[in-house]
Order: sequence, then structure tokens, then C-alpha cells
Amino acid sequence: MFPVSSQEGAGFFSLHKVNHCHYRYLNIMSDTPPSTPEQPENQPENLSVEEFTKVESIFVRHRNVLLVRAQFTPIYTDYYLHLMEQKLRHKEELDQKLKDLMAVLTLHLVARPWAETIAWTINLRAPRVNLFATGSSLFENITGHLFTENVKEPDRNVLYSQTLIKNTEGRKSHIELETEDPLQWVETYYMQSEQRPARVFRLDDENFALLAAQPDADTEWLESLTAEDVAKITETEQTKVLETRKFRFHCGCSPEKIIPALRSWKDRKDELFQGDPFVEATCPRCGAKHLITPDML
Ligand SMILES: [Zn+2]
Repeated sequence: MFPVSSQEGAGFFSLHKVNHCHYRYLNIMSDTPPSTPEQPENQPENLSVEEFTKVESIFVRHRNVLLVRAQFTPIYTDYYLHLMEQKLRHKEELDQKLKDLMAVLTLHLVARPWAETIAWTINLRAPRVNLFATGSSLFENITGHLFTENVKEPDRNVLYSQTLIKNTEGRKSHIELETEDPLQWVETYYMQSEQRPARVFRLDDENFALLAAQPDADTEWLESLTAEDVAKITETEQTKVLETRKFRFHCGCSPEKIIPALRSWKDRKDELFQGDPFVEATCPRCGAKHLITPDML
């Protein structure tokens, strides 16, 4: 069975071994947490800013609200290139949910301190699916994946959040979800985990905006906002750009990073490979497939 039905699910690599007519699934718990930031040496160099989604953090004066907004076409373009390369295809409705989830998590990352790597796993009852997204401001990346096979049916919709900060214990929390809209998930998350109201909007042309109340916020104004108001907010309100961060769709997985999770097979290679030249390991964060040969262990 695919153990992707809990928040730990994203920590598993699944190993597929082609065995003539059928697949054999092996599940191996990774030693590394699912959302460990990739090392800087894995970042390709010479990437220009245009390949990134630029995320602006804007303070709305007098309302005491933080606006985080971005245009997500660069991230979505690379996400679709990744799906093509990996021969992955998701149902349109689920694909949209995953894209929304990556967008809103990116905005949330920018509303949070730089050092945090955050992973969200959402277990939905119907459609029965696990959605996963993770990203980091420091490593300027967001990635995600969805699981539809062998997902255990949860008794309610739940969002599991895991925050990692280098040299600290990190945090885990979970909230129950009432709806199937990723934008509303974030509003619920802010109410329950951040304990302050927030609104999330999908605007034209793959633009998204998150508005989060700061101390002494004008919450009545925040509640009354419409997408039209948010689209022209810098014309109607006094605003100040606080900072800009950039993100791209990037996982950073590689065979080298998967191999430590297979260490226990080192002395049992025959059992793992059964005479086949390789096994295929699927990255739990982005769904990329990596071929592992016996000499790599
Ligand atoms: Zn990956």
C-alpha cells in the first residue's frame, strides 16, 4: 500500500519494480524530512529573474493589513514542463487544486519569516486525494504533487502543516477543513493556526493575493473586500512595498538524495532488485521518477 494517507506520507519514497507483468510496490521511510530544503549547490546558476514568480509584500497603511501578491505564470509554466517530462497527467479539477495550493502556500511563505520551510499535506475525503505542497523563501522554491491511488479515506478533510527552521525543532499542526477550495483552506488556517483573519483572492491572469490582518487591523474593511477592490488596492489605499521575494517551481530531488533512504538495502541488493537492472523511485514531493541501479547503493 501507498502510505500517503497521513501527514507523514510525503516522507515516503515509493519504489516501483517492474516485475514482468505487474508492479511491486515497496515503501521505504526516508531518513530526511519531506520538506528539507535542498542544498544551495543544487540550484542551477544563471537563472534570470524572469523565470521566477516575483512576490510582493505590501503594507496597507491605516488598515494595518499585509498584502502579499504575485503573478504565477512562471511557476505554472515550469510545473507543466515538469508534468510533461515526467509523463504525469492529473484530472483537471485536481490539477487546478494543486496549482491553487502551490500559489497560496507561496503567498503564505512570503507572509512568514524567511527561514521557514513549510510543507502542507491535505487529505480530502471526496474526491479521495492527498495534495502536497512545500516551499521555502530561502531556497526560492515551491513544489507539489498529488496522490490519488491507495489513499486511505479520512473521516474528515484535514490540512497538516509542518514548518522546518534550521537548527530548531520545527512545528507541526493540523486543522479541519470545511470546503474543497484551497483559497478557503488558507483563510481557515489563518483563523485557527495564525489566530488572525486573512482573505485570499484569485484575480485575473493567474494573479493571487493574500491579505492578512496585522495588530490593530481594520478587520471590517478586510471582511468587506472583493476581488475588484483587491485588484486596484494600490490605487485606492495608501500602500508601501516592504519587500520582494522570488520563487520558482523546483524540487531539487535527485537519485543521490534518494539513495540514503535505501541504505538498509545495501546488504540485501538481491532482494531489492531481484535480478532486474534497476528500480524506479518516485519523489514524494514532486512525483519525479529516478532510476536506481545496484551499483548506486
Ligand atoms: Zn522531487
